[in-house]
Formats: sequence, C-alpha cells, structure tokens
Amino acid sequence: MSTIFEQIIERKLPSEVLFEDEDIICIHDKFPQAPVHILLITKKVIPSIDKLTKEDAYLLTKIFVKAKELALEHKIEDGYRILTNHGSSAGQTVPHLHFHLLGGKVLSSKGG
Ligand code: AMP
Repeated sequence: MSTIFEQIIERKLPSEVLFEDEDIICIHDKFPQAPVHILLITKKVIPSIDKLTKEDAYLLTKIFVKAKELALEHKIEDGYRILTNHGSSAGQTVPHLHFHLLGGKVLSSKGG
C-alpha cells in the first residue's frame, strides 16, 4: 500500500505543489495548523526520521534550505518552526518522512 504522499508524488491524489525536484516535494498541508503550513516530503519512502541513514543525510540539507526559502516566500522569515514527528505517540499519521514548516501566527508551545 502506498502512502498518501506517494500518491501525491505520483499525482494520483491532488495537492498544491509549491516546489518539486528529483528528491523532494513541497505542498500545502490539507489541514493547516497555522496560516502557513507547508509539508516538505522526501520522494524516497523513508518511514520516519528514525530510519534515516547517513546516505540520506543530503535530503535533510535540501529540505532545510528549501524550508528557509519557502519561509521567505511566504513572508514568515521572522518566526517559523520546522518539525517532524516519529511514531504515533508523537503524532505521526503518515509513515513517509516529511517536515512541517509552520508560521504566520505566534507559535506558543514547543509541543508536549
Ligand atoms: P504527521 O501527522 O506528522 O504524519 O503529518 C501528516 C500531515 O499530512 C498532517 O499535517 C495532515 O494534515 C497532512 N495531510 C494528510 N493528508 C493530506 C493530503 N491529502 N494533502 C496534504 N496534506 C495532507
């Protein structure tokens, strides 16, 4: 069974794509938790950060640099949060590595 994000990458599910290259795809979250809520998703199916290997580390650089650029594009460069969830107790619902870029409001809690 492919993940929701694989289906989005394969254009089997609709999404608002903000950026895409051979390694990552960036889309608006369908259920935004903040005025700006963007998902940065690896095209390689890695179930979560817990399964990341050194060979995959370049993906993190790519994602964090793109997150910074998207923050600027969406005018939230003064304050934003980047996070990833591993495991259901942390709130992970899609087992395919992705990072949330959140901003556009005061983000009061660090989670917990
Ligand atoms: P997580 O809960 O950390 O695994 O994040 C999964 C995210 O995917 C959640 O913030 C959902 O709102 C979001 N999401 C679920 N389905 C879709 C979809 N079809 N398009 C865009 N975002 C989605």
